[in-house]
Amino acid sequence: MPVPKQLAIMLSQHIGAICRPVVNKKDRVTAGQLIGSADAFVSAPIHSPVNGTVKDIALCSHPVLGRAEAVIIESDESNQSKQPCADKFDGRFNPDKFTPEKIFNAVRNAGIVGMGGAGFPTSVKIKTNPSSPIRTIIINGCECEPFITCDYRVMLEWTNQVVAGALLIGKALGCGDIYIGIEDNKPKAADAFREAIKNIPAAAGIEVVVVKTKYPQGGEKQLIKSILGEDVPAGGIPPMIGVLVSNVATAAAIAEAVVFDIPLTYRPVTVSGSGIKKPGNFYAPVGMAIGELIELAGGLTDDAAKVILGGPMMGFAIADLSTPITKTSGAIIVLTEKEIGKAKMLGKETACIRCGRCIASCPVNVNPTRIAHAVKHNLLEIAEDYYMSACIECGCCSYVCPANIELSGFIKTGKILVARQKKLMPK
Ligand code: SF4
Ligand code: SF4
Repeated sequence: MPVPKQLAIMLSQHIGAICRPVVNKKDRVTAGQLIGSADAFVSAPIHSPVNGTVKDIALCSHPVLGRAEAVIIESDESNQSKQPCADKFDGRFNPDKFTPEKIFNAVRNAGIVGMGGAGFPTSVKIKTNPSSPIRTIIINGCECEPFITCDYRVMLEWTNQVVAGALLIGKALGCGDIYIGIEDNKPKAADAFREAIKNIPAAAGIEVVVVKTKYPQGGEKQLIKSILGEDVPAGGIPPMIGVLVSNVATAAAIAEAVVFDIPLTYRPVTVSGSGIKKPGNFYAPVGMAIGELIELAGGLTDDAAKVILGGPMMGFAIADLSTPITKTSGAIIVLTEKEIGKAKMLGKETACIRCGRCIASCPVNVNPTRIAHAVKHNLLEIAEDYYMSACIECGCCSYVCPANIELSGFIKTGKILVARQKKLMPK
């Protein structure tokens, strides 16, 4: 794609402390240059994807936070689009050339975060912790929401690079038990990984596991259950049971950062849905406006009704198309009026009829209606008592609710409010 004329690069694109800008208005920047420094351990630095000039450091529309500070860069006309480096990885890849310290530092300096949507700083995940050592690594190739195919393209086109990233995570953590989980509707991806593993001697111990295609198979707790048959405690995280889960695009970014010292400034993004004229996958710079990506995909159809950043189940509705993509933005999905349904279009919520469908559909066995009710009345402590933090934001409860109650929306809001109270998120 052509390099956008302007980018708004958010200083908060991850879980943890917001970055501090290290450039000023009118500064010249080059592609890959640090523009936001991460001073806290749980944070990830931000880099410029392009050569250009800092136009401003100002509040911009943020996909999750409403408005947040961003470095706005006007790009030079001389810019060339960044190319993926997948063809530089082959059977000779050897993770033993890199020490755990080198891998940790490269991942930290490159600002890598979970690109499957979570946005947790990857350097924190790959730092060895003697009190909870990692015994198994799962590379998550399950892309279970409708329309999204960016991870599928990564698996088909960057296969060796993903395997290299998996080996580097294993090297950093001293862990050789590695699985790649892929849904059974993607046999070509499973074949591509089996072939890559055959060709990379260092990858001989990696096992490809084909799992059932279902929603939400891509949730890390659900994938752990499918592959290892183990449960992560409610509200807990996989390292509590010695497991690390990493998305395929994140593994690829790790390989690029460790081997070539390249920071995370571009990512694959699916632009799709019935409301898009020419759906496709794009290798896009972080900070690009959602509206520009939609234009590159042919623009909106006449009956387009709702723009979502993320998948139709877990994503956020976007009202302002100048909102930029971040490191965690894997998809822009546009739905039509017919798909959303008339009642949802009108926002017609009715009273809960206590049918229990939301409870029956919840994959983590919490009570969505009680949590949502508590959040609605600002009773965050009660919402937490009902295990709000265990919710994986899959959206199943909202989807099945006959009363059109946006249960998962309330729960997401509740989690953001609690994170702000605990100062884990900017206001
Ligand atoms: S979004 Fe709803 S169904 Fe999904 S985990 Fe959370 S409470 Fe359960
Ligand atoms: S699915 Fe909707 S109507 Fe049924 S119990 Fe849950 S919130 Fe109430």
